[in-house]
Amino acid sequence: MNDLFSLQDKVAIVTGGNGGIGKAIARGFASVGANIVIAARNEAKTAEAVLDISKEFGTRVIGVRVDVREENQIRALADKVLETFGRIDILVNNAGTNIRRLPQDYTAAEWDEVIATNLRGAFLCSQAVHPAMKAVKGGKVINIGSMTSIFGGSKLAPYGTSKGGIVQLTRSLAVAWAPDNIQVNAILPGWINTELTRQARKEISGLEERVINRTPVGRWGEPEELAGVAIFLASRAADFMTGVALPVDGGFSIMI
Ligand code: NDP
Repeated sequence: MNDLFSLQDKVAIVTGGNGGIGKAIARGFASVGANIVIAARNEAKTAEAVLDISKEFGTRVIGVRVDVREENQIRALADKVLETFGRIDILVNNAGTNIRRLPQDYTAAEWDEVIATNLRGAFLCSQAVHPAMKAVKGGKVINIGSMTSIFGGSKLAPYGTSKGGIVQLTRSLAVAWAPDNIQVNAILPGWINTELTRQARKEISGLEERVINRTPVGRWGEPEELAGVAIFLASRAADFMTGVALPVDGGFSIMI
Protein backbone atom coordinates (compact mmCIF):
# COMPACT_ATOMS: atom_id res chain seq x y z
CA MET A 1 0.00 0.00 0.00
CA ASN A 2 2.84 2.32 0.84
CA ASP A 3 4.75 1.52 -2.28
CA LEU A 4 5.76 4.79 -3.90
CA PHE A 5 6.04 3.12 -7.28
CA SER A 6 2.85 1.05 -7.26
CA LEU A 7 0.39 1.51 -10.13
CA GLN A 8 -2.14 -0.87 -8.58
CA ASP A 9 -5.57 -0.53 -10.26
CA LYS A 10 -4.46 2.42 -12.41
CA VAL A 11 -5.47 2.40 -16.06
CA ALA A 12 -2.68 3.14 -18.53
CA ILE A 13 -2.92 3.70 -22.29
CA VAL A 14 0.28 3.06 -24.23
CA THR A 15 0.18 4.12 -27.87
CA GLY A 16 2.39 1.91 -30.01
CA GLY A 17 2.35 -0.51 -27.07
CA ASN A 18 2.41 -3.64 -29.24
CA GLY A 19 6.19 -3.69 -29.77
CA GLY A 20 9.57 -2.16 -28.98
CA ILE A 21 9.75 0.49 -26.28
CA GLY A 22 5.96 0.75 -25.90
CA LYS A 23 5.53 -2.93 -25.15
CA ALA A 24 8.38 -2.85 -22.64
CA ILE A 25 6.74 0.09 -20.86
CA ALA A 26 3.34 -1.66 -20.91
CA ARG A 27 4.92 -4.77 -19.35
CA GLY A 28 6.61 -2.62 -16.73
CA PHE A 29 3.32 -0.94 -15.80
CA ALA A 30 1.52 -4.31 -15.59
CA SER A 31 4.30 -5.65 -13.35
CA VAL A 32 3.38 -3.00 -10.73
CA GLY A 33 -0.35 -3.58 -10.98
CA ALA A 34 -1.70 -1.37 -13.77
CA ASN A 35 -4.44 -2.35 -16.19
CA ILE A 36 -3.21 -1.74 -19.72
CA VAL A 37 -4.63 -0.48 -22.99
CA ILE A 38 -2.47 -1.13 -26.02
CA ALA A 39 -3.34 1.28 -28.81
CA ALA A 40 -1.77 0.63 -32.21
CA ARG A 41 -2.66 -0.26 -35.82
CA ASN A 42 -1.36 -3.82 -36.32
CA GLU A 43 -4.07 -5.95 -34.73
CA ALA A 44 -2.17 -9.24 -34.85
CA LYS A 45 0.82 -7.72 -33.07
CA THR A 46 -1.50 -6.07 -30.56
CA ALA A 47 -3.35 -9.33 -29.85
CA GLU A 48 -0.04 -11.07 -29.18
CA ALA A 49 1.11 -8.32 -26.80
CA VAL A 50 -2.24 -8.37 -24.95
CA LEU A 51 -1.95 -12.13 -24.45
CA ASP A 52 1.71 -12.01 -23.37
CA ILE A 53 1.20 -9.25 -20.83
CA SER A 54 -2.06 -10.50 -19.33
CA LYS A 55 -0.66 -14.03 -18.97
CA GLU A 56 2.54 -12.86 -17.36
CA PHE A 57 1.16 -10.30 -14.91
CA GLY A 58 -2.54 -11.10 -14.48
CA THR A 59 -3.77 -7.53 -14.75
CA ARG A 60 -6.48 -6.62 -17.27
CA VAL A 61 -5.08 -5.84 -20.71
CA ILE A 62 -7.02 -4.82 -23.80
CA GLY A 63 -6.00 -3.85 -27.32
CA VAL A 64 -7.66 -1.09 -29.31
CA ARG A 65 -6.95 -0.54 -33.00
CA VAL A 66 -5.97 3.11 -33.36
CA ASP A 67 -4.13 5.14 -35.94
CA VAL A 68 -2.94 8.18 -34.02
CA ARG A 69 -3.10 10.24 -37.21
CA GLU A 70 -6.89 9.97 -37.06
CA GLU A 71 -8.64 12.24 -34.57
CA ASN A 72 -11.92 10.29 -34.62
CA GLN A 73 -10.09 7.05 -33.79
CA ILE A 74 -8.38 8.75 -30.85
CA ARG A 75 -11.72 9.99 -29.48
CA ALA A 76 -13.13 6.47 -29.92
CA LEU A 77 -10.12 5.09 -28.00
CA ALA A 78 -10.82 7.33 -25.00
CA ASP A 79 -14.51 6.33 -25.10
CA LYS A 80 -13.66 2.62 -25.28
CA VAL A 81 -11.25 2.83 -22.34
CA LEU A 82 -13.82 4.65 -20.22
CA GLU A 83 -16.49 2.14 -21.19
CA THR A 84 -14.20 -0.78 -20.26
CA PHE A 85 -12.41 0.50 -17.17
CA GLY A 86 -14.34 3.61 -16.10
CA ARG A 87 -11.20 5.70 -15.71
CA ILE A 88 -7.93 6.80 -17.34
CA ASP A 89 -4.89 7.55 -15.15
CA ILE A 90 -1.85 7.30 -17.39
CA LEU A 91 -1.12 7.99 -21.07
CA VAL A 92 2.16 7.16 -22.77
CA ASN A 93 2.51 8.88 -26.13
CA ASN A 94 4.94 6.42 -27.64
CA ALA A 95 3.65 5.74 -31.19
CA GLY A 96 6.29 6.93 -33.60
CA THR A 97 7.65 6.66 -37.09
CA ASN A 98 10.52 7.98 -39.17
CA ILE A 99 11.28 8.57 -42.84
CA ARG A 100 14.95 9.25 -43.55
CA ARG A 101 15.86 11.58 -46.44
CA LEU A 102 17.82 14.75 -47.00
CA PRO A 103 15.58 17.76 -46.33
CA GLN A 104 15.39 18.66 -50.02
CA ASP A 105 14.00 15.23 -50.90
CA TYR A 106 10.91 15.00 -48.65
CA THR A 107 7.45 15.28 -50.14
CA ALA A 108 4.91 17.30 -48.20
CA ALA A 109 2.99 14.05 -47.57
CA GLU A 110 6.06 12.43 -45.97
CA TRP A 111 6.63 15.47 -43.76
CA ASP A 112 2.96 15.38 -42.72
CA GLU A 113 3.04 11.65 -41.99
CA VAL A 114 5.91 11.94 -39.51
CA ILE A 115 4.59 15.06 -37.79
CA ALA A 116 1.02 13.70 -37.68
CA THR A 117 2.16 10.46 -36.03
CA ASN A 118 4.82 11.69 -33.62
CA LEU A 119 3.60 15.15 -32.64
CA ARG A 120 -0.01 15.82 -33.61
CA GLY A 121 -0.97 12.30 -32.46
CA ALA A 122 0.59 12.91 -29.05
CA PHE A 123 -1.26 16.21 -28.74
CA LEU A 124 -4.62 14.75 -29.75
CA CYS A 125 -4.26 11.71 -27.46
CA SER A 126 -3.40 14.00 -24.54
CA GLN A 127 -6.37 16.21 -25.33
CA ALA A 128 -8.67 13.16 -25.54
CA VAL A 129 -7.72 11.82 -22.08
CA HIS A 130 -7.72 15.18 -20.29
CA PRO A 131 -11.39 15.15 -19.20
CA ALA A 132 -11.07 11.60 -17.82
CA MET A 133 -7.92 12.48 -15.87
CA LYS A 134 -9.58 15.59 -14.52
CA ALA A 135 -12.54 13.47 -13.44
CA VAL A 136 -10.29 11.27 -11.26
CA LYS A 137 -8.50 14.38 -9.96
CA GLY A 138 -5.13 13.68 -11.51
CA GLY A 139 -3.10 11.84 -14.10
CA LYS A 140 0.24 11.31 -15.76
CA VAL A 141 1.17 11.91 -19.38
CA ILE A 142 4.51 10.58 -20.56
CA ASN A 143 5.76 11.64 -23.98
CA ILE A 144 8.51 9.76 -25.77
CA GLY A 145 11.05 12.12 -27.29
CA SER A 146 14.49 11.17 -28.56
CA MET A 147 18.11 12.29 -28.75
CA THR A 148 16.81 14.20 -31.79
CA SER A 149 14.85 16.33 -29.30
CA ILE A 150 18.33 17.74 -28.57
CA PHE A 151 20.55 17.04 -31.60
CA GLY A 152 20.08 17.58 -35.34
CA GLY A 153 20.75 15.13 -38.16
CA SER A 154 20.94 15.47 -41.93
CA LYS A 155 18.14 12.97 -42.62
CA LEU A 156 15.92 13.84 -39.68
CA ALA A 157 14.10 17.06 -40.57
CA PRO A 158 10.51 15.97 -39.81
CA TYR A 159 11.47 13.41 -37.14
CA GLY A 160 13.74 15.85 -35.28
CA THR A 161 11.13 18.58 -35.60
CA SER A 162 8.50 16.26 -34.12
CA LYS A 163 10.77 15.18 -31.27
CA GLY A 164 11.90 18.73 -30.51
CA GLY A 165 8.26 19.74 -30.61
CA ILE A 166 7.28 17.03 -28.18
CA VAL A 167 9.49 18.58 -25.50
CA GLN A 168 7.74 21.93 -25.94
CA LEU A 169 4.35 20.20 -26.00
CA THR A 170 5.35 18.53 -22.72
CA ARG A 171 6.10 21.89 -21.13
CA SER A 172 2.92 23.56 -22.38
CA LEU A 173 0.68 20.71 -21.20
CA ALA A 174 2.55 20.56 -17.89
CA VAL A 175 1.88 24.22 -17.20
CA ALA A 176 -1.73 24.17 -18.40
CA TRP A 177 -2.72 21.02 -16.53
CA ALA A 178 -0.78 21.51 -13.29
CA PRO A 179 -3.94 22.87 -11.61
CA ASP A 180 -5.70 19.61 -12.60
CA ASN A 181 -2.97 17.58 -10.84
CA ILE A 182 -1.86 16.12 -14.17
CA GLN A 183 1.91 15.78 -14.49
CA VAL A 184 3.34 15.75 -18.01
CA ASN A 185 6.93 14.64 -18.59
CA ALA A 186 9.03 13.34 -21.46
CA ILE A 187 11.56 10.54 -21.75
CA LEU A 188 14.33 10.98 -24.31
CA PRO A 189 15.66 7.51 -25.14
CA GLY A 190 19.13 7.08 -26.55
CA TRP A 191 19.78 4.42 -29.18
CA ILE A 192 17.55 1.45 -28.32
CA ASN A 193 17.48 -1.92 -30.02
CA THR A 194 14.00 -2.05 -31.69
CA GLU A 195 12.43 -2.54 -35.11
CA LEU A 196 12.71 1.20 -35.77
CA THR A 197 16.47 1.19 -35.24
CA ARG A 198 16.95 -2.19 -36.94
CA GLN A 199 15.65 -0.39 -40.02
CA ALA A 200 18.01 2.55 -39.38
CA ARG A 201 20.93 0.14 -39.05
CA LYS A 202 20.05 -1.30 -42.46
CA GLU A 203 19.94 2.17 -44.00
CA ILE A 204 23.03 3.69 -42.33
CA SER A 205 26.25 1.76 -42.73
CA GLY A 206 28.45 1.72 -39.62
CA LEU A 207 25.61 2.90 -37.33
CA GLU A 208 25.94 -0.09 -35.00
CA GLU A 209 29.60 0.70 -34.16
CA ARG A 210 29.15 4.47 -34.22
CA VAL A 211 26.51 4.28 -31.50
CA ILE A 212 28.68 1.97 -29.39
CA ASN A 213 31.68 4.32 -29.70
CA ARG A 214 29.64 7.47 -29.09
CA THR A 215 27.80 6.13 -26.01
CA PRO A 216 29.72 6.32 -22.71
CA VAL A 217 28.31 3.00 -21.45
CA GLY A 218 29.57 1.44 -24.68
CA ARG A 219 26.44 -0.32 -25.91
CA TRP A 220 22.93 0.05 -27.33
CA GLY A 221 20.04 0.16 -24.87
CA GLU A 222 17.30 -2.47 -24.63
CA PRO A 223 13.58 -1.54 -24.60
CA GLU A 224 13.21 -2.93 -21.05
CA GLU A 225 15.60 -0.24 -19.85
CA LEU A 226 12.91 2.40 -20.41
CA ALA A 227 10.38 0.64 -18.17
CA GLY A 228 11.75 1.74 -14.81
CA VAL A 229 11.82 5.44 -15.61
CA ALA A 230 8.32 5.22 -17.08
CA ILE A 231 7.03 3.51 -13.91
CA PHE A 232 8.65 6.25 -11.84
CA LEU A 233 7.07 9.05 -13.92
CA ALA A 234 3.66 7.32 -13.82
CA SER A 235 3.75 6.79 -10.05
CA ARG A 236 3.14 9.05 -7.09
CA ALA A 237 6.92 9.11 -6.59
CA ALA A 238 6.95 11.75 -9.35
CA ASP A 239 3.99 13.83 -8.17
CA PHE A 240 6.11 16.99 -7.79
CA MET A 241 7.82 16.56 -11.14
CA THR A 242 6.35 18.06 -14.28
CA GLY A 243 7.48 19.49 -17.62
CA VAL A 244 10.80 17.66 -17.52
CA ALA A 245 12.55 15.86 -20.41
CA LEU A 246 14.69 13.04 -19.03
CA PRO A 247 17.40 11.49 -21.20
CA VAL A 248 17.72 7.71 -20.75
CA ASP A 249 20.64 7.22 -23.05
CA GLY A 250 23.66 5.55 -21.48
CA GLY A 251 25.24 9.01 -21.31
CA PHE A 252 24.95 9.79 -25.04
CA SER A 253 23.71 13.35 -24.46
CA ILE A 254 26.36 14.35 -21.91
CA MET A 255 29.50 13.38 -23.82
CA ILE A 256 31.24 15.93 -26.02
P1 NDP B 1 8.84 0.43 -33.09
O1 NDP B 1 8.87 0.63 -34.55
O2 NDP B 1 9.21 -0.88 -32.51
O3 NDP B 1 7.44 0.88 -32.49
C1 NDP B 1 6.69 1.92 -32.98
C2 NDP B 1 5.28 1.71 -32.50
O4 NDP B 1 4.46 2.80 -32.91
C3 NDP B 1 4.67 0.44 -33.03
O5 NDP B 1 4.05 -0.21 -31.94
C4 NDP B 1 3.63 0.93 -34.04
O6 NDP B 1 2.53 0.05 -34.04
C5 NDP B 1 3.26 2.29 -33.46
N1 NDP B 1 2.78 3.22 -34.46
C6 NDP B 1 3.44 3.73 -35.53
N2 NDP B 1 2.64 4.53 -36.24
C7 NDP B 1 1.44 4.53 -35.61
C8 NDP B 1 0.19 5.15 -35.87
N3 NDP B 1 0.01 5.94 -36.93
N4 NDP B 1 -0.83 4.95 -35.01
C9 NDP B 1 -0.67 4.15 -33.93
N5 NDP B 1 0.50 3.53 -33.63
C10 NDP B 1 1.52 3.71 -34.47
O7 NDP B 1 9.82 1.55 -32.53
P2 NDP B 1 10.36 1.95 -31.09
O8 NDP B 1 9.85 1.08 -30.05
O9 NDP B 1 11.80 2.13 -31.27
O10 NDP B 1 9.74 3.42 -30.98
C11 NDP B 1 8.83 3.81 -29.98
C12 NDP B 1 9.00 5.29 -29.73
O11 NDP B 1 10.30 5.56 -29.23
C13 NDP B 1 8.85 6.16 -30.99
O12 NDP B 1 8.18 7.34 -30.65
C14 NDP B 1 10.29 6.45 -31.36
O13 NDP B 1 10.39 7.64 -32.09
C15 NDP B 1 10.90 6.57 -29.99
N6 NDP B 1 12.34 6.42 -29.94
C16 NDP B 1 12.97 5.26 -30.29
C17 NDP B 1 14.35 5.17 -30.18
C18 NDP B 1 15.10 3.93 -30.49
O14 NDP B 1 16.32 3.97 -30.49
N7 NDP B 1 14.44 2.83 -30.79
C19 NDP B 1 15.16 6.28 -29.73
C20 NDP B 1 14.39 7.45 -29.38
C21 NDP B 1 13.05 7.50 -29.49
P3 NDP B 1 1.63 -0.26 -35.35
O15 NDP B 1 2.56 -0.34 -36.50
O16 NDP B 1 0.93 -1.52 -35.01
O17 NDP B 1 0.68 0.90 -35.42
